[in-house]
Amino acid sequence: MAEERWIPETLFDELGFRMSFKVKKVLYEMQTEHQHLVLFEQPFFGKMLMLDGATQITKKDEFIYQEMMSHVPLFAHGKARDVLIIGGGDCGIAEEVLKHKTVRRLTQVEIDPAVVEFAKEHFPEFTKPVFADKRFESVIDDGMKYVARTDRRFDVIIVDSTDPQGPGKVLFSSKFYEGCRRCLNKGGVLVTQNGVPIFQPSELTSSIGKFRKLFADGACYVAAIPTYVGGHMAMGWATDNKNLRRTPAKTIAARYRSAGSFSTRYWSPEVHVAAFALPRFIAEAVAKAG
Ligand code: SAM
Repeated sequence: MAEERWIPETLFDELGFRMSFKVKKVLYEMQTEHQHLVLFEQPFFGKMLMLDGATQITKKDEFIYQEMMSHVPLFAHGKARDVLIIGGGDCGIAEEVLKHKTVRRLTQVEIDPAVVEFAKEHFPEFTKPVFADKRFESVIDDGMKYVARTDRRFDVIIVDSTDPQGPGKVLFSSKFYEGCRRCLNKGGVLVTQNGVPIFQPSELTSSIGKFRKLFADGACYVAAIPTYVGGHMAMGWATDNKNLRRTPAKTIAARYRSAGSFSTRYWSPEVHVAAFALPRFIAEAVAKAG
C-alpha cells in the first residue's frame, strides 16, 4: 500500500509552526519557472493549490477570500469600469469581479503561465466563464513591471498575490505600490492580500505604512478564512478617498440590489461594513503603522 502522504504548509516555519494536509491524490505537481506548484485532492478541503509551500486556494473555502477581495472594493467604489488583478492565476477573483455588469474591462496580470494553464484544466468552474467573457483580458507578465509601464488606468486594483516570497516579494514593495498609484484613476482603490496579522504583523504594518506615504487613506479590512490559518486575514486598503471605507451599509445594499443581488456565501452588505471593524490588537498595530 502506498505510503500516506501529508503536505506541510511551510509558510510559518520561522515561527516553528506548520499545518499539514493529508493527500488523497496529487493532481499536478511541478517546479515552474517561478515556483513549486502542487494541486491535490484533500479529504476535507477538496481540491487544494499550494505554491512554494503556501496554501493558495481550496475548493472548500475559496469563496470567502474571492468574495471579500472583489465585492468590498467594487461596492465601496460604486462605479468601477476598469479593474486590474495582479496575480490571481486561478481566476477565482476574476469570476467574482465579472459578476459586476458595470465593469467594462477586467485585466489580469499573472506572472506564471503554468498557473493559468493548470487552472483551465482543474478549476474550469472559474476559468470557463472568465475566459468566455469578452471583458476579460489575460496578460502574462510580472505585475511590478506591468504597473510601472502600462498606459492603462484603473478604478480598482486587486493584488491577489502569493506571500512576500519568491516572485510575490516585489508585490509588497514601495516601488510596486507607486506603480499601482500611477495607474489608478482619481478616487480609485487598491486592495491587497496582506496575510494573517497574528502570524505576519510586520507584513501588514509595512504595507500600510507604505500606503500612507502614497495615499490619503491606508488601512485594512478582515475576513476569517479557515485555510489561511491564524484567525483573521487582512486585506490592505489604499485610496485617496477617505470616505470609501466608511460607505454606509444602506448604500452598499442599494448598490448590491442594482447589481442584481447575485448570490454570495460570505460577503453581504452588513459583512462588508463589519469587515472594517478591526479587532483591537490589529487596530492598534494599524494605527502605529508608518
Ligand atoms: N488566493 C491566494 C492567496 O491568498 O494566497 C493567491 C491566489 S493566486 C494563486 C496568487 C498568484 O500570484 C499566483 O498565481 C502567482 O503565480 C502570482 N504571482 C506571484 N508573484 C507575481 C508577480 N510578481 N506578478 C504577477 N503575478 C504574481
